[in-house]
Amino acid sequence: MTAVDLGFPRVPGTRGVPSAPRPDTPKLVDTFGRVATDLRVSLTDKCNLRCTYCMPAEGLDWMPGEQVLSDEELIRLMRIAVETLGVTDIRLTGGEPMLRPGLAGLVSQITALTPRPRVSMTTNGIGLAKRAVALAEAGLDRINVSLDTVDRETFEKITRRDRLPQVLAGMSAARDAGLNPVKVNAVLMRGINDDQAVPLLSYCLEQGYHLRFIEQMPLDAQHGWDRGQMITADEILGMLGEAFTLSPFPAKRGGAPAERWLVDGGPGDVGVIGSVTRPFCAACERTRLTADGAVRSCLFSNDETDLRSLLRSGAPDEEVADAWRATMWGKLAGHEINEAGFAQPIRPMSAIGG
Ligand code: SAM
Ligand code: SF4
Repeated sequence: MTAVDLGFPRVPGTRGVPSAPRPDTPKLVDTFGRVATDLRVSLTDKCNLRCTYCMPAEGLDWMPGEQVLSDEELIRLMRIAVETLGVTDIRLTGGEPMLRPGLAGLVSQITALTPRPRVSMTTNGIGLAKRAVALAEAGLDRINVSLDTVDRETFEKITRRDRLPQVLAGMSAARDAGLNPVKVNAVLMRGINDDQAVPLLSYCLEQGYHLRFIEQMPLDAQHGWDRGQMITADEILGMLGEAFTLSPFPAKRGGAPAERWLVDGGPGDVGVIGSVTRPFCAACERTRLTADGAVRSCLFSNDETDLRSLLRSGAPDEEVADAWRATMWGKLAGHEINEAGFAQPIRPMSAIGG
């Protein structure tokens, strides 16, 4: 992480509006010295799966179309982020980003920005088999596919759709199209797919994918998260340790959320993102834009700034940039899931962009 010395310490966990004046820098700094360079953009809140840890079987009330940013508005905000605010990495997500019409066109407009940002996408992989080449040709650099099991019945139980073969085909198409390394995100749930840690890792090693387990977080629309049911990073490492020899990964972690281990001496590796039990907030480099144009400093923020209204009222770029900077300046030290009085954000993960 690039840290900025702001000359004053903040106490981790301190809430409220920062009292110190913001230093005169164009970048997205906060009062803890972090600099946000990694922008997560949600392209839509809609999805074609219904993962139980994310949304209810009947889906959600999707955002009305007129509230969703147009391609032109999205590109304008990404241009401001890249040209003015120092964003270097853009991750497209959702909802399911591949449901956004004209996705390849958007990717080519993003990769035409100067300086060119690195562009990646997090997807459930449905339909990727047909689109991987076009996305790679549009300039997409990398892809993360979410896969919580390699067992077809368990996949259907978790996602409420029988689509495992399509997802696996999408992953291999992405690898063949050069969207490498293909990363895989997996969430384990007690009694549902907690027997999948080892089979998932074996499959990913065999296919050359980089697997990351993510602790389940309280971000589901149904508010059904239960700490006791969460499979912790320690448990995941324990399960993997019974089948593989894990050794610390030689490269530095930097701002990356995953702690990585070499598997059986390498070159394959595995990562564990202990979002709840091993928070990495102190090194966070992220800023977030929702599909309806709200900028958020954290997945768990209870407030956000409506940039869409600014855009639609004719505000100049510098005013939009200032509103974005002010939002990030107010970023809290951490997500506070482990603190008394934690309140889950009103927006679920699918409407923020995971
Ligand atoms: N639909 C795409 C997908 O599933 O990859 C992108 C959006 S999804 C919200 C992004 C990531 O968030 C996925 O890897 C998903 O597994 C993860 N996710 C969703 N709900 C979560 C939760 N409650 N805790 C942890 N991860 C979650
Ligand atoms: Fe859809 Fe992704 Fe949520 Fe699953 S995790 S329901 S694929 S948005």
